[in-house]
Amino acid sequence: MRCNRWNVHLLAGVWSSLALMLGCGDGEDDRSFNSPDRVMDGAGAGSGSGGSSSTAEEPGCSSLSEQVLAEELPEPGASLAGLRFAGDIPDFVDAALERRSPFALELVRGGRLETDFGDCSVVFAGEPRSAAELYQALEVIVHECGHFYDAFLSSGSRDAYELTPELSFRCDRGDTTRRGGDTFARSRIAGDRYAASRPACENVSRPGCDPYADVYLDGDPDDGVFQSGDQGFNLLMEEAVQYVNSIATAWSFADQQPANIAISARDGILTFLWYIERYLRMARTEFPAAYERISQDDCWRDLTLGVWTRGVRYLQLSRSESKLGIADDELEQLVREPELLEEIERLRELDDCP
Ligand SMILES: [Zn+2]
Repeated sequence: MRCNRWNVHLLAGVWSSLALMLGCGDGEDDRSFNSPDRVMDGAGAGSGSGGSSSTAEEPGCSSLSEQVLAEELPEPGASLAGLRFAGDIPDFVDAALERRSPFALELVRGGRLETDFGDCSVVFAGEPRSAAELYQALEVIVHECGHFYDAFLSSGSRDAYELTPELSFRCDRGDTTRRGGDTFARSRIAGDRYAASRPACENVSRPGCDPYADVYLDGDPDDGVFQSGDQGFNLLMEEAVQYVNSIATAWSFADQQPANIAISARDGILTFLWYIERYLRMARTEFPAAYERISQDDCWRDLTLGVWTRGVRYLQLSRSESKLGIADDELEQLVREPELLEEIERLRELDDCP
C-alpha cells in the first residue's frame, strides 16, 4: 500500500503550510518513467541557446543555461552518520543540510533573517518526534525559508530571487497593475483552455484534479477582496523558485523518505512549469503590456528561463525516485504540450547571447 502526501505551500500575505493527506491505495506503483532524453527535450536543461544574465553579481553576456547548470549539486549519498535529533530543530536541520545541500542551508539561514514569524526552520517543521520525521519535513522547511529569504531581500515593487548560489535576480514591477506592477492576476489562467485538463480539486480529493489551483489560482481578481490568486507574475515565479527547492531537497534526502509514502515533490514543480507556460501564453495573446514586461525585461525573462532550466534539471535527477511524485506522469504530459513549450522557446529566442 502506498499513501500520498501533497505539500501545498501558500504565500499570500499570511504564511501557512498545508500538508494534505489524500488517501492510500493498494498495489505497486505502476508508473513508467521517461528515458532521460525524453524529459522536456527541446526545452530542457542545456538545450536552449542561453542568454544574458540579469544578476547584480554577473552582468555579462554568458549563457544563462550554463550559469544555472554550473550549480554545485546536492550530495544525496553523503553520510548522515552521527546525526542525532534530541529536540533542537534548528541544530539538526543545519547539520543535515550542511552534509548534503549547502545551498539549502544558505536559504534556511537567510530565511531566519526575517524574524517576525520566528525561526522558519521551526515554524514549518511540524512537531517532529524523531530524526526520521524531521528529515521528511526538510522539503517544506527549505521551501518556506526560501520564501522568507526572498521576502527579506525584496522591497517595494522590486522582487528578489535567490536561484542558485551564484545566480540571483532583482526584478521590478512584476506584480499586477492593481498592485504596483505591469502583470495580471495569476488566477486568470484558471479560465484558459488548458485548465479543464486538470481542474481545481475544490477541496475535494478526486483523481485528476489540481490541488495547487485551490491555493494559488483561487478567487476573482475583480471582486475587490484579496485572494492568493490575485497575485501577479512576481509571486507565481516566487512559488516556482521554491518548488524547485522542494524537489531539490526531497531528492537530496530521498533515502530518508519511507517507501510506502509518495510525496508531491515532483508534482509541485511540474504544476508550476505548467502554470508558467499558460501564464506566458495568456500574457502574449491577451495582456500585451504584461508580456512586454516579462519578455523584454532581461530580469524577468532570464528568471523565467532560469527557473525552467533548474526545474527540469531536478526533474531529470529525480526521475527514478517514484516516491517523490504522485501524478507526475500526467502532469509531465500537460507540460509537454507542444504549443505550451513554444512559449518557452519564444523567450529563449529573445535572449541576446549566442
Ligand atoms: Zn510556497
